[in-house]
Amino acid sequence: MRFLKIVSAALLICGAAMAQTTTTPAAPVSFDRSAMDVKADPCQDFYQYACGGWREAHPMPADKARYGRFDELREYNLYLLRSILEDAAKPGKHTANETKVGTFYTACMDEKAIEAKGIQPIEPWLKKVAAIRNKQQALDLIAEMQKEGLRPVFGFGIGPDLHNSTMNIAHVDQGGLTLADRDYYLKQDAKMVEVRGKYLEHIVNLLVLSGETTEQADKDAKTILALETKIADASMDRVSRRDPKNRDHKMTVADLQKQAPEIDFPRYFKLVGSATFDSLNVGNPEFFQKFSGLLNSEPLENWKTYLRWRVVKGAAPLLSKSFVDENFAFQGKYLSGQQELEARWKRCTAMTDNSLGEALGPIYVAKAFPKEAKERMDVLVAAIEQSMGKDIQNLEWMSPETKKAADAKLGKVSNKIGYPAKWKDYRKVVIKSDDFVGNARAASVFEQKRELAKLGKPVDKTEWGMTPPTVNAYYSSSENNINFPAGILQPPFFSAKVDESVNYGGIGVVIGHELTHGFDDQGRKFDGDGNFTNWWGPNDGPEFERRASCVADEYSSFVSVKDDKGEVHLNGKLTLGENTADNGGLKLAYMAMTRQLGQKAGEKIDGFTPEQRFFIGFAQVWCENITPQRARELVLIDPHSPGKFRVIGTVLNSPEFPKAFGCKAGDAMVPQNACIVW
Ligand SMILES: [Zn+2]
Repeated sequence: MRFLKIVSAALLICGAAMAQTTTTPAAPVSFDRSAMDVKADPCQDFYQYACGGWREAHPMPADKARYGRFDELREYNLYLLRSILEDAAKPGKHTANETKVGTFYTACMDEKAIEAKGIQPIEPWLKKVAAIRNKQQALDLIAEMQKEGLRPVFGFGIGPDLHNSTMNIAHVDQGGLTLADRDYYLKQDAKMVEVRGKYLEHIVNLLVLSGETTEQADKDAKTILALETKIADASMDRVSRRDPKNRDHKMTVADLQKQAPEIDFPRYFKLVGSATFDSLNVGNPEFFQKFSGLLNSEPLENWKTYLRWRVVKGAAPLLSKSFVDENFAFQGKYLSGQQELEARWKRCTAMTDNSLGEALGPIYVAKAFPKEAKERMDVLVAAIEQSMGKDIQNLEWMSPETKKAADAKLGKVSNKIGYPAKWKDYRKVVIKSDDFVGNARAASVFEQKRELAKLGKPVDKTEWGMTPPTVNAYYSSSENNINFPAGILQPPFFSAKVDESVNYGGIGVVIGHELTHGFDDQGRKFDGDGNFTNWWGPNDGPEFERRASCVADEYSSFVSVKDDKGEVHLNGKLTLGENTADNGGLKLAYMAMTRQLGQKAGEKIDGFTPEQRFFIGFAQVWCENITPQRARELVLIDPHSPGKFRVIGTVLNSPEFPKAFGCKAGDAMVPQNACIVW
C-alpha cells in the first residue's frame, strides 16, 4: 500500500486497470448461474465448474492485463464516479468538495493544455538536479523531493511505534528502486536478463524524450541500472520483510547517524519539514549502512544521473502523450502484457480518487452506500467473529493459556464499515483548472504535511487506508481492526437480493479473511492492542509454524505460469498470510452460515443446496483471466495467490467441500493431507 503503516494486509493487490467499454456496464450479480460451466465436474476442477462460463464470456479486454470479478465491480464503480465528476465539473452551484474534485478531473482531462506544456512541469526539478555541485546538495535535493511526496530514494514517514501502537513515531526504510522488486535486478535467469535489456531501452527512450542525446542517454541508462542494482543488493527481500522482527530496529537518530555517516540525518529531517525527534524506527539498518557507503563510493555525476531519471520516470504518467505512451509501452505492454492504455477518463477518475479520495468519497457514499448495507454488515461481522471465538476454543493444538490470549485479542478487534466517521479537510489544497501536474503535486504535498503532523501524537485509529469506492478490504495489525470500504459491499460480494448462504460465501469469507489476518504468520505476532509482542505459549508457536509450513508447501506446488522459459511456481512463503486468511475465512464463514441455516440445511434453491451455493458464491468472487506476463509479475510481488488457486487451494483444505458436492476419495478436489491452521 502507498501509506506507511507497519503491517497492513489487503484483500487484493490494488491498481489494476479498467476494461474499455463505451456504455455503462451492467451491475455485477451474486451467484451467477451463467458464470458456471455446469458440464465440468466440481469434484475434478471446481474453479472451472464455478467460473468456466464467466471466463469464456469475458476474454481479456485490450486495456487490461488481468480481468476478474473485482475488476468488473471496480469498472462499474468507475462509471458512477465519472458521472459524479462530470456533474461536478459542469458550471453551476457546487459544494467545496464537488468543485475541488470536478476541477481536478477537468484539468486531468485537458490533454491539450498538458500537451502544450510538454516537459515544462518537471523542468524546475531537472534544473535543480543539474545545479548540484556536491553530495550534500544531492542529499538536500532528495529531502526537498521527499517533502513534495516524490520519494526518490528511501522512505521517511510517520506511523505507530511497533511496541507502543498508540503513539506515532518516525520511520525510515529502504527504497529507491524503479522496477517492482529486487529480483528484477539480481536474478540471472533468462527472463530477468531479458527484462533488464528492455529496461535499458526504456530508460534511453524516456531520457531522450526529456531532452538528452541518444549517446548520452545510452551511457546514462547503464549508469542507472548499475546503481539501482547496488541499491537492490542493499535491500531486504519480500519474504524476510514479512517477519516484523526484521523491521524492528528502534534507535536514536545519533545511532543511525553512526551507522550511516555519509547522511546528515538531522539536516535531512529538518529539510523534509519534520519537527525534531530523538529516536525512530529503521526498517532496514543494513540498507542505510550500504546506502551511506554508496554515497561515498559512487561519483557525484552518477547520483545526478540517477536523480534525473527518478524525476523523469516518476512524472512520466502525468506528462504529455509521448511520455505516457513510452511509460505504458514498458510498464503495461511489455511487463504486464496489456495491449492498450486505458481510456483517459478512466485514468483521470482513478487519479482523482487517489489524490482527493476523501473529497470524492462523501459524494460517492451518498449515491452508492445505503444505510441497510451497513446494518446487514454489522450482523454478518458479529456472526463471523462468533465463529472465530468458537474456532479458537475447538483447536486441538493450542494450550488453554494461549487460547485465552487469542480470545482476548479477538475481543479487541474493532471494525470499520463503509467510510470514515470524519473526513479529511482539503480546504488548504489549491486545485487549478489548467495545471494538472501542479494539482497532483499539491495533493501529494498536503498528504505529506498531514503525515508529518502526526509525529509524536496518538494514533488515530478512525483513519482509513483505503478510499470509500475501493473494491478491497484490509486488516491493520497495529490497529487490530478490519476495514471494509463501501466499494466492496455490493454484488458479487454482497447483495440484499440473494439467499444468505451466497452472502456468507462472498462477503462472509472476506470478513473471515480479514479477521484471520490478525492470526496469520504476521498478524499473530501482534497482540490485541496492536503491539509487536509474543503472547504465545512455548509449544503453541512451533505448533502454529508446523501447520503454516504445510500451507506454504502446498501453495508452492501450484504452477502459475508455464511457457517456453519453464514453469513459474507460486511462492508459498510470500503468499502464506493471504492463503492462511483465505482458508481461515472460508471455515469461519461456513460455520456462521451453518448456524444461521439451522433446520434449512440441505433445502435446495434453483437446484443447489445452501452449502453448494456457499461454495459457488465464494468461488465466483475469484473468476478471472490474466495474461502470462502479469501472472509472472505477480508471483514476484503479490502476497496474494491468483484467483484460481485462491479457490482450489482453499477447497482442497476444506473437509466441508467434498460433503457439499458428494466428492469421493481420489477425486482431484478432495484433500488427502488438508492443511488446517485455523
Ligand atoms: Zn488479505
